[in-house]
Amino acid sequence: MAVHLKTAEELEIMREAGRINAMALAAMRDAVQPGVSTLALDQIAAEVLRKHGCTGAFVGYPPGSPHPFPATITASINHELVHGIPSADRILQEGDIISLDCGTIYQGFVGDSALTVPVGKIAPTVQHLLDVTERALWVGIEQCKLGNETADVSRAIQKYVESQGYSVVREYTGHGVGRSMHEDPQVPNWWPRRALQRGWHSYPLQAGMTFAIEPMVNAGRPETRMLDDHWTVVTRDGSLCAHFEHSIAVTEGEPIILTMFP
Ligand code: MG
Ligand code: MG
Repeated sequence: MAVHLKTAEELEIMREAGRINAMALAAMRDAVQPGVSTLALDQIAAEVLRKHGCTGAFVGYPPGSPHPFPATITASINHELVHGIPSADRILQEGDIISLDCGTIYQGFVGDSALTVPVGKIAPTVQHLLDVTERALWVGIEQCKLGNETADVSRAIQKYVESQGYSVVREYTGHGVGRSMHEDPQVPNWWPRRALQRGWHSYPLQAGMTFAIEPMVNAGRPETRMLDDHWTVVTRDGSLCAHFEHSIAVTEGEPIILTMFP
């Protein structure tokens, strides 16, 4: 349970990692339209990272795995929640939604952020799911002030999402980010009763803490399952889902959004 507090100099590097990651997401967002493949989006992100001398944090992740992730981004369509593998055969259709997640390594530090994008015109009910998920991210970020704990972020996200009639995914969480893509603290999108007895740990927020907040919201039930490609996570009931993520830094004042769009 070691949390690495970052110095001002390290935060400047992380801001740059986050800015480049946001540029990759923005370039993909602008390219999303019916007929585009998820592999084409991956290539767009890879090119933004390459131009800035960065490498993708997801490529070959996790080290030593028999099934390392083969791409720069994860691209997850409709009932796919996270970790979809980009492919020339996955073509976006009008009315789809696509969740795009990217990780950038810049000077040894990671930026990690994600968003869900409509493909062409989507139904108002689907737009509502996207709006609630994005808002849930900001509800979590608003809790990132001294005096609070990570559990306050978790509880606020869960309470807001459930008040809108949706469910939060249990199996995947926000996480500390820094020299490593996943470090302490874990930041779940929910907080069960008796969490401490379950061995969960809520971390008091400290200036210099950096973590990714990433609500994953299902229109239906919260359960997920993994496809036999070893990566793609889908909702078990086939319902639509959305995912928004920023990496942030806790400060003495307002949190810094490290992955803000330029
Ligand atoms: Mg993340
Ligand atoms: Mg991510």
